Amino acid sequence: MSLTFFTPGPAELYPTVANHIQSALAEQIGSISHRSAQFRRIYQHTDEQLRALLNVPSTHAILFTGSATEIWERMLQNCVEFESFHCVNGSFSRKFYDTAVDLKKFAHLVEKPLGQGFDYEEFSKVTEGSPKKAEETGDKIRIPEYAELVCLTANETSTGVQMRGVDINKLKRSHRSKLFCVDMVSSAPYHSLDFEEVDSAFFSVQKSFGLPAGLGVWIVNEKCLARAEQLKKQETVIGSYHSLPSLWKNYKNFETPETPNVWNIYLLGKVAEDMNRLGVDHIRKDTDAKARKIYDFLEKADGFEPFVKNTEHRSPTVAVANTKEPAKEIIERVKAQGMLIGSGYGKAKDNQLRIANFPAVSMEQVERLLDALK
Ligand SMILES: *Cc1c(COP(=O)(O)O)cnc(C)c1O
Repeated sequence: MSLTFFTPGPAELYPTVANHIQSALAEQIGSISHRSAQFRRIYQHTDEQLRALLNVPSTHAILFTGSATEIWERMLQNCVEFESFHCVNGSFSRKFYDTAVDLKKFAHLVEKPLGQGFDYEEFSKVTEGSPKKAEETGDKIRIPEYAELVCLTANETSTGVQMRGVDINKLKRSHRSKLFCVDMVSSAPYHSLDFEEVDSAFFSVQKSFGLPAGLGVWIVNEKCLARAEQLKKQETVIGSYHSLPSLWKNYKNFETPETPNVWNIYLLGKVAEDMNRLGVDHIRKDTDAKARKIYDFLEKADGFEPFVKNTEHRSPTVAVANTKEPAKEIIERVKAQGMLIGSGYGKAKDNQLRIANFPAVSMEQVERLLDALK
């Protein structure tokens, strides 16, 4: 029996992917040269469709890497000489921080208990150059004066906690002199980021874009490039073939330094085009409507409750539920009806479920899942 995947990545394939795979085979995408005009047209098309979908201005490049995990490392290597700042509230935001530590950056973190999130209002508005002293900021979170890069996670996939797009945009506006990078791996294109402000964001394709794994997408602006070039001049190690200057130089010609995942770049462009045809607003509203159904169920149904208490922090794309019954038994029962849901992350494996609400699953499929969970 084929399953419907409500797992938070790899996830259900976007409904049009099977057709696009057929076209990719017909067009012999698996064999074409990555130095051909055909490939450059594919890259350009994917770039144009993602730009339209996510409202990315011409100040930003759209670059391809092996994964989102790689982008944690590239971002820190290329844009931080000494200090980074991380908002941590689960395993993925923690790994971003851990990467900075591994790279010997002086990494600051503010950490929330699992299930909690960050709001703009919690941050001190004091920025460098302001005469106010730290103690005047009360108990607000203060982004350290010497932090060069602020690292945020729009959707913490391990706990189902979001930081709302409006809060991310406001936080950047109040800290304009710092570079901001947003992990939107399990929510893009849901979160609406203001790329006039946000310097960088990234995702990988096997989550909310509903594609097979193996491609990271790095949206990054000229300020980040300038920073990387400055670090390079100072002889800081910024990497080799996937350094930001190397990726950017190739991008100008719609090429990549290495032989890339041409197949997935092609599929991503096609799926982004399909999403644009529906309209990103439609996708966001549809996601909200399905999320309301899921959370409503979790609040009312016997034996379940939403893990995240603050409704504004509840992720629209990955819902996490506490369960009375052992999670494994629920997963098995639902699987027998043709649907796969995720277990809790790490230690929460036994008494939590994670339900992905990505654009690939329809309202009807969500309703079927909730019926099976009853
Ligand atoms: C899955 C995930 C990653 C890592 O993505 P890979 O494609 O495995 O590199 C990073 N951040 C978040 C929030 C994720 O959900």
